[in-house]
Amino acid sequence: MREGQIYQLKGVVQHYSWGGYDYIPHLLGRKNEDKIPHAELWLGAHPKSSSYIVTENGEDRLDRFIQTFPHNVLGQKVISRFKENLPYLFKVLDARNMLSIQVHPTKKQAEEGFARENDSGIPIDAPHRSYNDTNHKPEVHVALNDFWMLHAFRPAKDIENIIKNIPEFRPLLSIFYADGVEGLYKHIMRLPQENVDSMLNPLVKRLRGENPQHRDDPDFWALKAFDDFPQPENRRDRGIFSIYLLNLVHLQPGESTFQDAGVLHAYLFGTTVELMANSDNVLRGGLTEKYIDIDELLKTVKYEGHKPEKSIGEVISYAERVYKTPAIDFELSKLTLFPGEAFQNAQSKSPEILLLLNGQISVSDHFDSHAFDRGDTFFSPACTSYKITALANSTLFRAKVPF
Ligand SMILES: [Zn+2]
Repeated sequence: MREGQIYQLKGVVQHYSWGGYDYIPHLLGRKNEDKIPHAELWLGAHPKSSSYIVTENGEDRLDRFIQTFPHNVLGQKVISRFKENLPYLFKVLDARNMLSIQVHPTKKQAEEGFARENDSGIPIDAPHRSYNDTNHKPEVHVALNDFWMLHAFRPAKDIENIIKNIPEFRPLLSIFYADGVEGLYKHIMRLPQENVDSMLNPLVKRLRGENPQHRDDPDFWALKAFDDFPQPENRRDRGIFSIYLLNLVHLQPGESTFQDAGVLHAYLFGTTVELMANSDNVLRGGLTEKYIDIDELLKTVKYEGHKPEKSIGEVISYAERVYKTPAIDFELSKLTLFPGEAFQNAQSKSPEILLLLNGQISVSDHFDSHAFDRGDTFFSPACTSYKITALANSTLFRAKVPF
């Protein structure tokens, strides 16, 4: 590699079944006539699906490029904190159907869980494996259009009111009064399946009659979940309770949330740019066909309820808005440039990935000038200076490590 050079980066699309048909193909300038779901575009060096870097000698996997030149690509500061790994994974996510209800572990839980599953001889790719690596997975994301999600338990008072107002949930009220939110959630997740069905069957019947249409109404998502996650033998998915217990959040374009370890959440619908620690550790709590490890989930969830915390980021210069979080692994920001405007980056201490979401830019590094169009991504190794000049109204998202 040549020091002082930026590289075009090519992400890898994940075709999970819940993905949308249009947003990611359109962003990448590809046709999708066969309506294949395009769920996520991964930009990073995760070993499961590394992006490709365009070098003088052709394309190479970014993870391999980092292994070959760790010090030059990552820089000393990243290596001393994260060893020879790119600490973050950057994504565009487009959800046509809802994703599983999930929570991510702390670093300590991930280290212990990974070791424990190894000691029990669970193969790394086994479907009943919860810990795929030793890392935590805090996540920040910024909505690109109207976006709906579930995020953290509602305040206890709201949960009480909701249970009171749903006749089918009346058996839960005494549990809530006796044991609070934590006791209630543990009760629901350990309830025998026939008790789950005896509450959810009349609920689905009633909702079918009412046919709720409003996406800001939990009933809409509950009915959709009944249809999207049919269980064998007419069983009901207990994740549906969580649609009522968690905050239903409607993000406008440009609004963001942060999911730290322990925050129960689910993406329901919409398109978002997401930045997270480089990990694949997910514990699921329903609305999924995948493995649910109840004990591990209940140990990881934080039960204190609160109102959802949305952020629109913080403007730090004429061009840049930062979505600050407590995570030390990553920092997400948005660059907005008018035609002719420039953004100079002076020797970032960390490697960066920049995604051009809209517009047209030219980027000059120590050697050359490179032209990028909508949907293009470039990678800037640590200690590289570059200057972006907008040729049209342009929006970029930038991932880096905060130092
Ligand atoms: Zn998540």
